[in-house]
Amino acid sequence: MRASCRAIALATLAPSALLLASLPAHAASALAAWRVSRDGVLELRTSPSISLQAFYESGRGTQGPRVWIDLPGAPVRPRTLRGSGALREVRIGKPDPGTTRLVLEFAPGTQLDPRNMRLVGTARDRWRLELTGLGSNRLISTLGEGNVEVAGGGWVRPTPFGGSRPLPSTGGMPAVPRGRFRVVIDPGHGGPDPGAVGIGGLRETDVVLDISLQVAQLLQSKGVQVVLTRTSEIDVDLPPRVALANSSGAQAFLSIHANALSMARPDVNGIETFYFQGAQSRALAEAVQEEMLRVSPGSPDRGVKTGRFFVIRRTVMPAALAETGFVTGDLDSPRLADAGHRQRLAQAITRGILRYLGGG
Ligand code: ZN
Repeated sequence: MRASCRAIALATLAPSALLLASLPAHAASALAAWRVSRDGVLELRTSPSISLQAFYESGRGTQGPRVWIDLPGAPVRPRTLRGSGALREVRIGKPDPGTTRLVLEFAPGTQLDPRNMRLVGTARDRWRLELTGLGSNRLISTLGEGNVEVAGGGWVRPTPFGGSRPLPSTGGMPAVPRGRFRVVIDPGHGGPDPGAVGIGGLRETDVVLDISLQVAQLLQSKGVQVVLTRTSEIDVDLPPRVALANSSGAQAFLSIHANALSMARPDVNGIETFYFQGAQSRALAEAVQEEMLRVSPGSPDRGVKTGRFFVIRRTVMPAALAETGFVTGDLDSPRLADAGHRQRLAQAITRGILRYLGGG
């Protein structure tokens, strides 16, 4: 946060461009073909150059673990296919009109190791996910639809990119009614305004954009519509962020930042969340603060505080501003530089928002 939050606008995006699901609802599914091999490797062929994310949910009682992938565009025909071995069934669903959800539902008791599972792009239109932890508990036969080998008009040299972090787990996250809520996520700073710059050149803008995009994906996977005030490294001034939020009809607003002090104060670390006024904003701030602390052992609890930051003072819905740690702190900085920690923070912030929305 700090003074650089007041940077001058170089670009202002039209609100409609900022909805994360930017494809029209009638767009065809980006899923062209899929296959799960006998030894537990999921392969996908998709439309080229899309972004997608895989999720994991642990099993409970009579329900086994599941892995799912959300892709842009709707399936023509939602369907359920009988599985094989530990893979109980495969569903091609439509959680909302603009999304295809490929769900791999495993039998109760199936062991998977989500920490070592990564969805990796191997070409512009090819993806691979190794279902680790299955051991000998594999499939009896290969399952699939379509041909994953066809690469639009020719062979593409496999170039690994993307998908470098483990699968986020939404297990244990509160459920809220799908399609009822809309939330604005505001990644602080951006573009020529890097926000705070800390140890090793760690930039606040990179940290908070990565966390914010993951929060958006996770909320969407739980049926919450998300409006992002920025989705890339551009600078958006504060009034347009507030105008966008206030015209969005959202039930909550969360600005995500990282803190900084002088480089001479590496001893200062910790997590804090601000709100301006009102019991609702305070409840949002408290839920987010509590969840962030839970994934940041040893990091000081700097508390839930009132603050007069523009984006939480001028927004009309319950609003909070989360400070995820100090980029200048010797404890926080290496954590914020770690993709795994940023993922845990994103999951924590998502849990906080869902709790606030009434997911219990
Ligand atoms: Zn900031």
